[in-house]
Amino acid sequence: MATNSAKTDGKTSDAQVAALEAALNGDSLVTGRRPGPRCSFASIIEALPNATAEKIQAAADDEGTSSSALADLLISAGFDITAGSVARHRRRGLANGCRCAR
Ligand SMILES: [Zn+2]
Repeated sequence: MATNSAKTDGKTSDAQVAALEAALNGDSLVTGRRPGPRCSFASIIEALPNATAEKIQAAADDEGTSSSALADLLISAGFDITAGSVARHRRRGLANGCRCAR
């Protein structure tokens, strides 16, 4: 790529247009229509009995519960999850959250 020094002078090269077209046609970052990776928090919730799942979900929705504390609880129970995944689920519906229904 020789476009590192491209200036925003109103001109675009064919390569730049081609790169954009390729991204727009094949990448979910722009359209947001693809589901992306499965939310690991949701996978755990769905695997739990309803009563337990509701408590875990309530803990996740409680701002007094830290994502790392909740992740630690789940990890100690044998689930494979990270604090980052918990935090992402808590931001569900937002641009930087998972795609679970709010
Ligand atoms: Zn989620």
